[in-house]
Amino acid sequence: MEKQNFYDLNFDQLKNFLTNKVEVDSSKAKMRAQQMFNAVYKKNIKNFDGLTTFSLELREKIKKLISLEKPKIVDVQKSKDGTIKFLLELKDKRNVETVLIPDKSQSRYTICLSVSVGCYLSCEFCATAQISKNLVRNLTPGEIICQIILSKNYIDDWSTQKKITNQVLMGEGSPFLNLDNVKVAIDNSKNKDGLEYGRTRITVSTVGVGIKKNDKDAIEWAAKELDVYLAWSLHSSIPKHRSEIMPINDKYSIDSLIPQLKKYYDQTKLPIFIEWICLEENMTDKHAKELVKIMKKVPSKLNLIEFNPLANKDFKPASQENIDKFSKTIQDNGFLSLFRRSRGRDINASCGSLANKKAIRNG
Ligand code: SF4
Repeated sequence: MEKQNFYDLNFDQLKNFLTNKVEVDSSKAKMRAQQMFNAVYKKNIKNFDGLTTFSLELREKIKKLISLEKPKIVDVQKSKDGTIKFLLELKDKRNVETVLIPDKSQSRYTICLSVSVGCYLSCEFCATAQISKNLVRNLTPGEIICQIILSKNYIDDWSTQKKITNQVLMGEGSPFLNLDNVKVAIDNSKNKDGLEYGRTRITVSTVGVGIKKNDKDAIEWAAKELDVYLAWSLHSSIPKHRSEIMPINDKYSIDSLIPQLKKYYDQTKLPIFIEWICLEENMTDKHAKELVKIMKKVPSKLNLIEFNPLANKDFKPASQENIDKFSKTIQDNGFLSLFRRSRGRDINASCGSLANKKAIRNG
């Protein structure tokens, strides 16, 4: 019988597993689950022999039924600017990438997590889409959270003062297409006995796809169940142009998404981050004016992202002059606009560039 992977379970699921499969007394299951979470996510034990408060008999039983297996780091690239990119090998030998982006002090990082192998959404400016035109498979909850564990191991981030301070689910894949597994990973990230990240330290992105879940409104479900920042990969405020660079816009139009994003804000009271890659063609006055109209409808902040021309030669990056002008229009209308320089350009780790040539995706 295949062992249950520890990292695939959230706290309640582990509690149930301990009661039903390990036959822990139900009155003690919560305490045991807390001790296991603490040992794995805070003390970073490598195997269950580290559960020193458990009887030898219980430890042996847990070892037979639960594994702590993780993906492997098979390649590490370091950028001149301090960005670190990992290539991970999953159990089925497929690969995904994870990126650690340092702040100015080079002592704290934001981690960019992938949620699937490949992506079928075919955003034209995205390198992942250029090499992998389809979704190969979703990552398991454990494969998502272990990207953080492996990165913490690599930079020795196990003291109470975290080095990895923020998480963005903006790597390969679209989190709303893998919502159940993303939820378990976020549960364990937020759990006080888990990795213990605050709700404002985590950002989940969406292009707009996957907003229906089991015929329910996934946005409302996500607002309650994830309760973290939501980033909307908008990239163009003109529907015809957005469809050209993001074909998914034909199915999920800007107008149809606005009420959904408003619902997310109403539930969480967290502003929506609008993500905008700075291309020559989407930084026009018309784009800025249309974007202002959208921002008036959804409480939001604008994140302008420098485009890395290496990712796709067909697109040209916007000039700094146009970026400044665009940003000024947004700010003059009372909205926040932040410009983020591209990081890790020399190792293809910047936004929209995750497409390691060594990676096996289709297996
Ligand atoms: S930008 Fe994101 S959603 Fe679009 S193709 Fe790339 S990985 Fe998929």
